[in-house]
Amino acid sequence: AKQQGRNTWRRYAGELGTRAQGEDISLRRDLQEAIAGDQLMLHYQPVVDAATGYLHSVEALVRWQHPERGLIPPGVFIPLAEQTGQIIDIGHWILHRACRDMADLKARTGRTLPVAVNISPLQFRRPGFLDNLAQVLSESGLPAETLELELTEGVLMADTEATIDTLAALRSLGVHAAIDDFGTGFSSLSYLRYLPIDKVKLDRSFIQDVTNSRNTAAIVQGVITMAHHLELAVVAEGIETEAQRRDLQDRGCDLLQGFFFARPMPLTVLRRRLAEPFGAATAR
Ligand code: C2E
Ligand code: MG
Ligand code: MG
Ligand code: MG
Repeated sequence: AKQQGRNTWRRYAGELGTRAQGEDISLRRDLQEAIAGDQLMLHYQPVVDAATGYLHSVEALVRWQHPERGLIPPGVFIPLAEQTGQIIDIGHWILHRACRDMADLKARTGRTLPVAVNISPLQFRRPGFLDNLAQVLSESGLPAETLELELTEGVLMADTEATIDTLAALRSLGVHAAIDDFGTGFSSLSYLRYLPIDKVKLDRSFIQDVTNSRNTAAIVQGVITMAHHLELAVVAEGIETEAQRRDLQDRGCDLLQGFFFARPMPLTVLRRRLAEPFGAATAR
């Protein structure tokens, strides 16, 4: 019976594997159409000034409106697109769209809103990346100083010399850079002093525990203090409760982002909420 059970399990696992593979393949094919067929879109999540609760900037987050499967989150298709190389086209589209959207916002409302765009490792390491970026900036007319690129620790710690060169080139363009999901990778803290970056985004996993774990709180406080000594701004991601908000504010965190303030939203919705304080948990 035991043997049979194992065989059954094997068969089951095999089927699961095949099905998952099949699904990947069909999603990959669909992704090609998504890029061409206007199925990708950007939502923008507010980042608020910790001191005032007012809108400081936004993070662009991509979504895929699949014709049959509905909304597919980036956690599902970005890794696929990285495997196939489609991330290059997608990443270009995202950058271009985010810059155009913010230039359009400025034209319609007069408001200059800084925007952060997530950049995938493959995209960042590509030789043409900087030229591409400069081109996108000039096409959209967006001031470089209002664009920030979010890079994960993994990208920043690998291939360090080339990385530092690219970051330095970004800085001379005027574009800002942030470390995303800080604390989840294996970055060497000492390395931070060599990286020409502007901001650290504390990962949500720390924020989740900060109010009920003394160890987590100690790490969070340490990162904020260290970042400030390095003249880096700190953003806390994934603020969901008033208690977390107060905790991070008390610890001197500069900027806050999370469902407590607002979920990612389409540009049209954002446009109506530009002047509103996000301090009270309204947008749930
Ligand atoms: P990320 O860059 O760390 O983005 C933050 C993610 O946390 C977003 O998920 C956001 O919706 C979610 N989030 C924000 N506040 C809260 C909160 O209070 N609670 C919880 N539970 N979640 C919160 P999303 O949009 O599903 O994106 C997931 C990841 O996919 C991103 O993590 C980023 O790594 C990647 N991604 C998203 N958009 C892009 C893009 O345009 N390009 C690239 N290369 N990657 C992207
Ligand atoms: Mg991000
Ligand atoms: Mg993040
Ligand atoms: Mg994160």
